[in-house]
Amino acid sequence: MNDADEILPHVVILPRAWEKIVHELNRAANHGMARCGSPDEAVFVPLCALRYRSGRLRAPQLESTDLSDIEAIVVADALIPPREMVELSALRIRFRPALGSWAQTQASFDAQLDAALARAPRLNVLARGHSHPFDEGRTRPSGPDRAEHLAPCLAFNRTLGIEAGFTFIAVRAQENSGWALHCFATRDGQRVIDLGIAKLPTESAGGKQMLDVPFYVTEHGRDLECAIQTALGDALKMERLALGWTRYRIAPRSSSRSVLAIPPDFPAAAGRRFVCAEGNWAAEDVIDWRAYLPLEGFVAPRAQECPS
Ligand SMILES: [Zn+2]
Repeated sequence: MNDADEILPHVVILPRAWEKIVHELNRAANHGMARCGSPDEAVFVPLCALRYRSGRLRAPQLESTDLSDIEAIVVADALIPPREMVELSALRIRFRPALGSWAQTQASFDAQLDAALARAPRLNVLARGHSHPFDEGRTRPSGPDRAEHLAPCLAFNRTLGIEAGFTFIAVRAQENSGWALHCFATRDGQRVIDLGIAKLPTESAGGKQMLDVPFYVTEHGRDLECAIQTALGDALKMERLALGWTRYRIAPRSSSRSVLAIPPDFPAAAGRRFVCAEGNWAAEDVIDWRAYLPLEGFVAPRAQECPS
């Protein structure tokens, strides 16, 4: 199967993220021009959320997500690593090891990253970003881009169950003086899949909800969590997952174990329910998760009435 036959995700960028990225692309290019007459490459860290295809929702860390399950990768924010953390040459950009005097810089950038993800839990570092300021319109990841961007990104994404790594490379736009973002994926760290040019921000592009708080932070979400915590007590184990999801593990009352995973857009998007019977897990979409809990006749207290 070649790329053209595959159902592939596209990449969408929100205005705030694109502004930050373009600012850094211009800064690096101008810095290089002033120094030696040719533009420097730039590095940026895209913070992304996933939009799944209809009927293909997959809970991160619990299920595996294939490239074909993803409708869009939404770049909702971006961070620019401190200059001293990045090693630049004509051919490659790599992060310096977090040793010696760099350790503190690395730690402060990690803290910045943690704060950004705490503000927007639907996002994570699902892709790498840099520029090829010599290329116009299109580009191709180099050998080091595969080894040092795509492969480590795939390794990290796999810890979330996402069976793909991504690298987004900024190039000079063809028809004006701005920039375009050429996007690539890999499933195995070897073969590069061309995802095409990202859609730059427009009023109608959508995706702004990726910056909204996830369900569990909303009043409705807090009320529901409070209700099941009160009803189930120690039988409930609750855990925040990546990308704004929450896992609820319910201790067995019978022979079958049950796990619910609630996405950040619940109840507009269905949750996922996993049941283990005779050693096999089966998964299904669930909209009214209360139907699966022993809460008949239970009136949810308001969050402020919950035992703390
Ligand atoms: Zn490159």
